[in-house]
Amino acid sequence: MKIGGTFISSLDYPGRISLVISTGGCPLKCPYCHNPELIDGGDEVSLISIFKKIDDATEFVDSVALTGGEPILQFNAVKEILAYAKSRGLETKLDTNGIYPEKLSEILYLADYVSLDIKCPFDKYSEIIGADIGKKVKKSMEIISSYPETFLECRTTYVPGLMKPEDIKQISREIKCDVYTLQQFRNRKVLDSSLDKIPSPSPHELKKIGEMIKPILNKVKIKTAEFGEEII
Ligand code: SF4
Repeated sequence: MKIGGTFISSLDYPGRISLVISTGGCPLKCPYCHNPELIDGGDEVSLISIFKKIDDATEFVDSVALTGGEPILQFNAVKEILAYAKSRGLETKLDTNGIYPEKLSEILYLADYVSLDIKCPFDKYSEIIGADIGKKVKKSMEIISSYPETFLECRTTYVPGLMKPEDIKQISREIKCDVYTLQQFRNRKVLDSSLDKIPSPSPHELKKIGEMIKPILNKVKIKTAEFGEEII
């Protein structure tokens, strides 16, 4: 399988220490992608070597987190990694952009926590990220939220200029999840260089948007480089 790398993190899976596996390849080209080098692939590694990394980490992590790229692009390998992590007594987290609802439904029983990207309101995907996948993402969300054993985080990277606070309000009316996270756009490394000039929204700006949607959603968090995660 293709991966960008592996690392240990206490930030990726809330409340857990994880072995994070960053998978290569993604069918989307979000203009603000902060992992553009992963869109086309990564380094080829064997599943056996990934299993060994899990074995080596088992003493000091309690979970395995798969991020990307888009992990489900490598469905068979991801399924095997999730199953292996479970067999070692570890919890599992899966990040996805929601483009593969059917495949997602086949591996959900192996995922304790899913972070689902909600890039924008479902009817604005073509306009904002250039891919008309809003219906698929909605279907993914519905599948996960109907699966009580899996914790669902929906998350949006707020990019001023590409979206407005009203878009976040529309998202908050359209989604159903256990927690919603509003992430700060960072302009240091992005796919579309024209976004280099867009300043990151301030923690204060994100907090204001978070407070606006709090009455609609049960649990709202913001995530910024300055202060990490804050519950609103
Ligand atoms: S932001 Fe995520 S979904 Fe979008 S292109 Fe990058 S890796 Fe793919």
